[in-house]
Amino acid sequence: MPDDRPIDLSPKVSDEIRTTTCYMCACRCGIRVHLKDGGIRYIEGNPDHPINKGVLCAKGSAGIMHQESPAKLRKPLKRVGPRGSGEFEEIEWDEALGIATGWLSAIRNEDPRKLAFFTGRDQSQSLTAWWASQFGTPNFAAHGGFCSVNMAAGGLYSIGGSFWEFGEPDWEHSRFFMMFGVAEDHDSNPIKIGLSKLRANGAKFVSVNPVRTGYSAIADEWLPITPGSDGLFALSLVHELLSAGKIDKKFLKSYTNAPWLVVDAPGSSSHGLFARDADGKPLVWDRNKAAALPWDSDGVVPDLRETVTLPDGRQAKPVFYLLAEKYLTAEYAPEAVAERTGLTADTIRRIAAEIAEAAFSETVVIEQPWTDWRGVRHERMVGRPVALHAMRGISAHSNGFHTCRALHLLQMLLGAIDSPGSFRYKPPFPQSAPPPVKPAGKPGQVNPRQPLPGPPLGFVQGPEDLLVEPDGKPRRIDKAFSWENPLSAHGLMHMVITNAWKGDPYPVDTLFLYMANMAWNSAMNTGGTVSMLTDKDPETGEYRIPHVIYSDAFYSETVPYADLVLPDTTYLERWDCISLLDRPIGSAEAAADAIRQPVLTPDRDVRPFQDVLIHLGYRLGLPGMTNEDGSEKFPEGYKQYITQHQRKPGIGPLAGWRGENGDAQGVGAPNPNQLDRYIENGCFWRHEIPEEGHYFKFANQAYLDWAKSMGFMAEAAPVVLQLYVEPLQKFRLAADGHGDVLPPERERERLRRYFDPLPFWYPPLEDETRTADDFPLHAVSQRPMAMYHSWGSQNAWLRQIHGHNVLFVPESLAQELDLKADDWVWVESRHGKIKAPTKIMQGVNAKTVWTWNAIGKRAGAWNLDKDAPESTRGFLLNHLIDELLPEQGSGYRYAASDPVTGQAAWYDLRVRLKKAEKPGFEETALKRKAFKRPPGMPRAPETVAYGKKGGRR
Ligand code: SF4
Repeated sequence: MPDDRPIDLSPKVSDEIRTTTCYMCACRCGIRVHLKDGGIRYIEGNPDHPINKGVLCAKGSAGIMHQESPAKLRKPLKRVGPRGSGEFEEIEWDEALGIATGWLSAIRNEDPRKLAFFTGRDQSQSLTAWWASQFGTPNFAAHGGFCSVNMAAGGLYSIGGSFWEFGEPDWEHSRFFMMFGVAEDHDSNPIKIGLSKLRANGAKFVSVNPVRTGYSAIADEWLPITPGSDGLFALSLVHELLSAGKIDKKFLKSYTNAPWLVVDAPGSSSHGLFARDADGKPLVWDRNKAAALPWDSDGVVPDLRETVTLPDGRQAKPVFYLLAEKYLTAEYAPEAVAERTGLTADTIRRIAAEIAEAAFSETVVIEQPWTDWRGVRHERMVGRPVALHAMRGISAHSNGFHTCRALHLLQMLLGAIDSPGSFRYKPPFPQSAPPPVKPAGKPGQVNPRQPLPGPPLGFVQGPEDLLVEPDGKPRRIDKAFSWENPLSAHGLMHMVITNAWKGDPYPVDTLFLYMANMAWNSAMNTGGTVSMLTDKDPETGEYRIPHVIYSDAFYSETVPYADLVLPDTTYLERWDCISLLDRPIGSAEAAADAIRQPVLTPDRDVRPFQDVLIHLGYRLGLPGMTNEDGSEKFPEGYKQYITQHQRKPGIGPLAGWRGENGDAQGVGAPNPNQLDRYIENGCFWRHEIPEEGHYFKFANQAYLDWAKSMGFMAEAAPVVLQLYVEPLQKFRLAADGHGDVLPPERERERLRRYFDPLPFWYPPLEDETRTADDFPLHAVSQRPMAMYHSWGSQNAWLRQIHGHNVLFVPESLAQELDLKADDWVWVESRHGKIKAPTKIMQGVNAKTVWTWNAIGKRAGAWNLDKDAPESTRGFLLNHLIDELLPEQGSGYRYAASDPVTGQAAWYDLRVRLKKAEKPGFEETALKRKAFKRPPGMPRAPETVAYGKKGGRR
């Protein structure tokens, strides 16, 4: 019988569509959430959104199963059993907030530093950092010190901007694109969209990465670099380009500090500093006038090569002279670096030649006149189409700061910064290098019941900016901004628990964590971290870290170690703000920010963490959250704060539709209808830079004027790119006894060694330990393309892509160890050993093994079945990583961090492998007793499927 019923070709799939912003990774794509009968029907990319232009990745679409997760926390919890037991009782919010207020007000009245407040991949850092400063504690940071501070600080001190979200390659015009250490989850949709554009344009794409997966898989050329040696490779390219004269001298003279004169007076307090005039302006040698003149003098013709005598008789050399002296030595010749980098000398020479060819023979010209800050009109924009991009693969090494700087040095020598075809800044960058914000928390700045006079994080410009006691002791619990890690612009999240447990430099009372899985994949030394969280003082019987407050949306491995759990909502259930005060989401041609609006109402007794934080601030009487009459300033929570809070007059969390009528952009009075305007526009705001200001932003008057008008810069002043970073030299001088603030004796040699104002390469610190030779292999990890947070590996859809991880072993090593497919190995570091299943792989550096990170789970966490593959086969390399370096003669154990920035050096890990007799985890520390499910959390259904409601209890 023919079925003659009509076919509905456009069935109505949803009752309503609401726009918001994805949070399944850090890219913050725009999404349209289709709702039916009050629940999510599906999620699609927002085609109008500037970041993803409608593209949605696997993670983004799996947001629906994030919402359906059986691991969602349901109500505030108070610990009733020992820490780590998972024994809790459910309590009401009023009681939970009362407990938190009691603990926090006691320490605020006594010493606010007893609060250590650390957040994970928190996208509300402009709020959380401000809250910490209102509380009065300098002990705040997010996960940047664990992730990418080397890259951020390396960039911000050098070029006033950075890779990652702070800039982007000129996908349209680049002819040669080289990507260093970018894991496949990084900058997900934007990079994928950009790479397809780049490939379609026929540009060459070179991936420098020990592992050929993800983006590297579509590269024209893959360079299997040995971990930790990227800086050596980059400096060898510099050597080659300098030797061949393939550099842009005009760019260097006009926009960098290449001609600035550096005092050459060894032993004196000015040695290595810029020669300056009476107003403090750096001097250059004017070739025509044969005189030292301020760098910005009218008509100055700077010389790059001469050693000169200053009027006071001191000798000085231009930065370029020092630079050429340093990098033309044989130390950086391709033959000298080949073995250490794992690349052949011929390859290095060829890549240098290809870069030079692209930069100087394939010049990109855009017929757009522009005027520089000196008032000189340029008829067109001429660019060097070589773009670099980098991320954690270079950042998470103890030599990562100088490696990042080496990449920026390479860019500057080529003139490939914000020129057509090169790396481009996203507004509000560039900022002055480094930005003018300094960290607060010096002696006298932390007082009971008082806010800090500034933000807890910032950019140190010399020893006088450090947060240290007069005897040199660190003032922050993580020892950020101390002599041990002076430029730690993002703090050292990975050292908080260790230092607090030791009471070094002092004990804390309350550890307050937000979405930071620090008892598992966001810690080095996982086993030790758990022991420290549960350790008691034998004299008092109290935990050494007396109080732990944790906020998360899910039952992560860290929840059982908290005394008080404040359950957060999902990203689909709250207001949120992607603020320019935090990090940009715009493009090189426009500023942008965005919001999240609640598209669903929570079905549990949970509250958005940001609302809770603001309300806690009121309960504590924090000035920013309390009116003068004592009433609550933001009774409607974060939503109200987003529109009404002003960081400076006219500047608030959102830059769009400001002013009472919503007609101001960037700067303007609060607009009560601002959120409505965002929602009308798809939950984002974008504001174009005038076309004349699209390139050369560091010196382009049209851009500088625009940036000032938007409140991004205090003055429309040029940003001079820093080949030579003078603040580093100030630390070397202090190490030699010059200046008012001097380091303790123990720190002096480290400062002399690592604070070179010109980038240099040294082996990762782990390679220099006494046991390094016993562990011949490098071991690294990355998140897979389909996951980002540890959230991803509990997501019912994404778990089907990666249910457990394996250790990928290079083919040659597998042969050596007689490994067959799926054999298990013992993986051993100087810190511990684990067992892991293996896979044999060709696309990996011959001295490197690697795995997916944060797939392995603790049994019972995330409401997964105790036999879930994530806990029976999944493993974590974190167990093998020591957060401390071995003691090396001074009696002191330094953090396993970059000595300049404090970045956690977890990619420094060295291991050895041994074939295991039998598979399985039974002999390792991973076989732990499963966590109990917290009260009120239903047992997960056997199958978590979209549309399948209900579960077993
Ligand atoms: S790239 Fe990230 S933010 Fe964009 S859709 Fe995917 S998960 Fe969401």
